[in-house]
Amino acid sequence: MTITQPNNPHTYQIVTYGCQMNVHDSERIAGVLETAGFVPSETLPQPGVPADADVVVFNTCAVRENAGNRLYGNLGHMATVKAAHPGMQIAVGGCMAQQDRATVIARAPWVDVVFGTNNLGSLPVLLERARVEHTSQVEIKEALEIFPSNLPTRRESPYSAWVSISVGCNNTCTFCIVPHLRGHETDREPEAVLAEVRALVAVGVQEITLLGQNVNTYGVERGERQAFAKLLRACGEVDGLRRVRFTSPHPKDFTTDVIAAMAETPNVMPSLHMPLQSGSDKVLRRMHRPYRRERFLGILNDVRCALPDAAITTDIIVGFPGETDIDFEATLDLVRQARFAAAFTFQYSKRPGTPAATMPDQVPHAVVQERYERLVAVIEEISWEENQRQVGRDVEVLFAEGEGRKDAGTRRLSGRARDNRLIHVALPDTVEQRPRPGDIATVQVTYAAPHHLICDAPLTGLIRTAGGDAWEARERAEIGMSNAGRPGIVQGAD
Ligand code: SF4
Repeated sequence: MTITQPNNPHTYQIVTYGCQMNVHDSERIAGVLETAGFVPSETLPQPGVPADADVVVFNTCAVRENAGNRLYGNLGHMATVKAAHPGMQIAVGGCMAQQDRATVIARAPWVDVVFGTNNLGSLPVLLERARVEHTSQVEIKEALEIFPSNLPTRRESPYSAWVSISVGCNNTCTFCIVPHLRGHETDREPEAVLAEVRALVAVGVQEITLLGQNVNTYGVERGERQAFAKLLRACGEVDGLRRVRFTSPHPKDFTTDVIAAMAETPNVMPSLHMPLQSGSDKVLRRMHRPYRRERFLGILNDVRCALPDAAITTDIIVGFPGETDIDFEATLDLVRQARFAAAFTFQYSKRPGTPAATMPDQVPHAVVQERYERLVAVIEEISWEENQRQVGRDVEVLFAEGEGRKDAGTRRLSGRARDNRLIHVALPDTVEQRPRPGDIATVQVTYAAPHHLICDAPLTGLIRTAGGDAWEARERAEIGMSNAGRPGIVQGAD
């Protein structure tokens, strides 16, 4: 649908909270709005506080305990902004909209549209209806009618792209609201996934990340065996696609055919994000995570046998209800054995609507904090040691947008190694030698910190890729539109 626009087209901004799913959904929301005639707002808002767009969309996340407080705080601020900006419209989408469908308008009556995770494509119509009828519109669909990937998408990056293979989740992790809000897993046909991948590569994309809540159950609903491994191998056949990643796997469903596909498909990267959550079997049981620590360690061992240079990262929750000192020590012990390259650590907090929120034996905050600090210290020590093993090695880096770490006057561009480690690379003196975001080079690691590597040696083997060309073309096109180079979508502060 194209909305009839006045002489100056309406502008939009999207503030995104939460995970990669939401980031990718925001790309679709942007695509849907632009197809309807909206344009990205030219002025960068303050982080999390958009101020000048005709339409401001909050794409919300319900995962954190205080997500609601933050949303209603932001909406409270927007009441003043809207009062000073006649005609402005505010839309709330994402998981909080799905969860709080009945209360958003009651608590913030100046919100024009509330839309669910299953009806992103309806946003322009709902905005128009709200404008014409002068009433707030709420549309939350329980079931997925169109796979979101069929919606127009405004990609944030011209060289690296998310590609959804499924939405929803069939698991019942007791700390997680996703199955409640996003429904059961629905998979895309492999032909549709591969067609999207090929189309992205044709416009310069060098790297894709296959996205699903549990990629390892991909194809199960169709009764297809080893479907995810086959999909990885099929991505390996796509000419011009240099890097394939995926997130998230599930230890319960992770099978050796996937490890073989990773090892035998050259463009599948040697990195694996394998969520652990806890190293205690008792806590895993309470979390409804049906694998045990030995199984988890066995997977890591199998992956490292097949891919010796794989960097393995994880997620860990500290202080889940009922977690004792002994349980926590089991997590520390597993972390020491697993030697993760990095770990995302979370202090457990109640997430309304989840079974864990009402479990007895909630762990006092001070205890959670103390365990969290001990865990982070162990993880940092290990990730620093692992990073130090990289010093002196030649690694291939795919450069990304945004200036890298700068010190002592050395300007650097950041990027990702094949194993997904973050690298800051010193910029060569001459412009001709400088990589653009989307280009690839080989660099030698000269220094390691816990969370990144530094490469201050001269880079070699610079490959000017179609991704770099696409980035440059987009920059040229956007000069004058925005000093951000990526207007329209901003990341909210979590
Ligand atoms: S696997 Fe568990 S944590 Fe992940 S989305 Fe599904 S229910 Fe949530």
